[in-house]
Amino acid sequence: MNKLIYLDNNATTQMDPRVLFAMMPFLKKNYGNPSSPHASGRMARKAVEDAREIVAECINARPYEIFFTSGGTESANMALLGITDAIDGAIPVITSQIEHPCVMNTCRMLENSGYQVTYLPVDEKGIVEIRKMEDFPIPAGAVKLVSIMLANNETGVIQPLHKFVEILKTSAGAIFHTDAVQAAGKIPIDVKKLNVDFLSLSAHKFHGPKGIGALFARKEFSLKPVIFGGGQERGVRPGTENVAGIIGMARALELAVKDMERNTKKMFAMKNFLINGLKESFTDVSINSEGAETLPNTISVSFKGREADKLLIKLDIEGICVSFGAACHSGASKLSDVLKAMKTPDNCNRGTLRISLSRFNTMQEMVYLLGVLRKIM
Ligand code: PLP
Repeated sequence: MNKLIYLDNNATTQMDPRVLFAMMPFLKKNYGNPSSPHASGRMARKAVEDAREIVAECINARPYEIFFTSGGTESANMALLGITDAIDGAIPVITSQIEHPCVMNTCRMLENSGYQVTYLPVDEKGIVEIRKMEDFPIPAGAVKLVSIMLANNETGVIQPLHKFVEILKTSAGAIFHTDAVQAAGKIPIDVKKLNVDFLSLSAHKFHGPKGIGALFARKEFSLKPVIFGGGQERGVRPGTENVAGIIGMARALELAVKDMERNTKKMFAMKNFLINGLKESFTDVSINSEGAETLPNTISVSFKGREADKLLIKLDIEGICVSFGAACHSGASKLSDVLKAMKTPDNCNRGTLRISLSRFNTMQEMVYLLGVLRKIM
């Protein structure tokens, strides 16, 4: 194959041409500032508010519960740092050991500022452990803030969020944030059913543009801004809106939701074909989180005794893009903290590749990948 085979879609995705098409007018002739009172500004304002409605509808929220941000990292920071009450007082914060750095490092910062933070462990499949919590119910008011991701970026494990919400929010009264950056566009998201207070999204993970995201914030909560400026996004997230990005995000999410069933089927077929092919072709291979509910596009595969960074280079030479561990760790050959939390042995952790698919991949590419893996092993 001459073309690049891109199998690193949890790092970022190709922009859907229909998304680019929707954005183009706002990069060319409709370049007004949504805060300007003239015709050009009004046109931009209308487009931004229409996009807000679309994003809200896609996750069953209300438009005024959507704040546009620069991406998943900013959304999570805004939620965790912006909740007025959570900033004061020394009531514990709960998160998990497998969060993306945008949550993990924010929690570490809170810890360094004197907060008590509990990092929940995971089982060997990568599911956050709640058994102990069920055994020892948490009294009302004992936890202030919780952040547990909906789907993990390395393993694709979809967390049983309803259980955490039940125990930590409904019973203990905590404010609940979930990082839904990897879940959005791949599995249905309904903020009412999830019953979370905050939810973070990032457009470039579902075939939208980079540098744009959103935070769902339940209307009851007043958020403190974490950056200061003008009155945009009701003063909570000041700065001139990324109009084209916002339009692109709304279009990308709309398309992902509309075609989810078809795309899920397609990705699962490719994923299952790959998993079977890997198991048939190699003896020392294990699929991480097998048996857990995972995203349709994500495979975390460990080649025991191998070095993932060497495999990655060999695949790269053959025109195949995959990742070891999380994309943010690429280039820094370290063991994956997520796999460490799952107690994956170091000789498997070191040889782990993440293969993440998208609707733009083909079965032919899966056949090619298996062939190349057999050749380089
Ligand atoms: N959360 C998860 C689970 C992610 O995978 C990522 C990106 O890899 C982020 C948050 C950060 O999103 P962004 O790149 O938009 O800041």
